[in-house]
Formats: sequence, C-alpha cells, structure tokens
Amino acid sequence: MSDSLIPNNLVSTRQRIDDACAQVERDTHTVLLLAVSKTRPASDLRIAYEQGQRAFGENYLQEALDKKEELSDLDIQWHFIGPIQSNKTRAISENFDWVHSVDRLKIARRLSEQRPSALPPLNLCLQINLDNEDSKSGISLEELPELAQQVQELPGVTLRGLMAIPAKRENPEEQQQVFAKLCDALDALRRQTNNTSLDTLSMGMSGDMEAAIAAGATIVRIGTDIFGARNHG
Ligand SMILES: *Cc1c(COP(=O)(O)O)cnc(C)c1O
Repeated sequence: MSDSLIPNNLVSTRQRIDDACAQVERDTHTVLLLAVSKTRPASDLRIAYEQGQRAFGENYLQEALDKKEELSDLDIQWHFIGPIQSNKTRAISENFDWVHSVDRLKIARRLSEQRPSALPPLNLCLQINLDNEDSKSGISLEELPELAQQVQELPGVTLRGLMAIPAKRENPEEQQQVFAKLCDALDALRRQTNNTSLDTLSMGMSGDMEAAIAAGATIVRIGTDIFGARNHG
C-alpha cells in the first residue's frame, strides 16, 4: 500500500479543482469531489478515505454492495451513477445516499416507494442527454420540465439537480458551452418550480473538469485522475 499513487493523485486532483475555481472566482468549497471507484478494489477506496475523501461514486450495484460491506467501518457517502434497471431500485434505494442517473418516472417512483423510512429522502439528479446521442441514457432538455415536476412530488426522494456526460469536444470553450446548457436548464427549472432544493449540477470528469467548473458544476465525478487508468468498465 505504501507505494500507492492514490494519495498524491488526490492532492493533485484537489489542486486542479482549486485552480479551476480560482480561474473563475468561485469558492472551492462549492465543488464536491466525487471519487468514481468503479472496478477498483475496496482497498483503494480505503486509501482515499484515509486521505479525507468521503464521497464515492459507483456504477455497478453488486460491486458497490460488496465494497460497502467490506468498508462498513467507514463513514462513506455513497453515490450511484450508473444505468438503473428497475429490478435493482430497492437495493439502490436502501444502500445509497445519492442517485445521479435517474431518467424515467418509473425508476424515481420505485426509489421513492422503496426508500426506508428510517433514512432521509434519497438525493436524486435527473440525467440529461445533452447531445441527444442514442447510445446514452438520459432525457432531452425538452422532456425535463415535466419529469422534474413529477419527481419533485415524490415523498421518498429529494430532487437536487441535473447530471450529464456530454460528448467530448476538442475545443475547451465549446466544452464549456455544452456544460453551460445544463446550468441554464437548472436555473430555468428553479424559476419555474420555486424549488430551493435544486442546487446540484453533477458534471465534469477527469478530462473536462475545468470546463465543467467554469460552467457551474457543484459535483465533479473523477475516476481516472484519482485511481489511475481502468482496464475495463
Ligand atoms: C466512469 C465515470 C466517471 C469518471 O470518469 P473518469 O474519466 O475516469 O474521470 C464519471 N461519471 C460517470 C457516470 C462514469 O461512469
């Protein structure tokens, strides 16, 4: 473990966030670093935790549950960020604090109904497919107002904001413009609904976090820059 790169990687990732915030005069505390730990062993999460990292993002339910059990002595905030099948909603609702990848009312309803009453409402983001790519999950911006209206009525969940994974742009300014669309959509939604819980923009990964932060990201989801390149997944 002593030769792990994770502690240094975390320091440099946090520095990148600080620099990106300074560049656009944002308070660095307004950006949460979500460590995306899919395909990584529980021991890697433990190393990151020992460096102060608390929020972890997982894409695959069974893998996440195994790690959660192994790390049950730690006070981790668990975020589900992968595609959701309806037969998995109960376990997701019982085991996570946040879900970023909701794109259907049916899924939101099940997460709400299945949320244990002893837990606070589950924090949800709606996933937006900004490029309208067929290959990606997420709703279009046109579908957003109606779905948001329905989801915010559900008692077991709190609608917190929007998530997107836009296609890579070569030009950083173009990348920022795409992220800005998500920010505009959240602003519009806040005005339409007067919902003060809408405070979250989950956008930006290892390759594009500066553009996302410049456009208002409040959660950046970083895997590779913390844990190294993945072989798969
Ligand atoms: C894997 C993944 C990330 C992290 O991507 P990196 O490029 O490794 O930082 C972020 N968000 C989602 C939804 C992911 O699946």
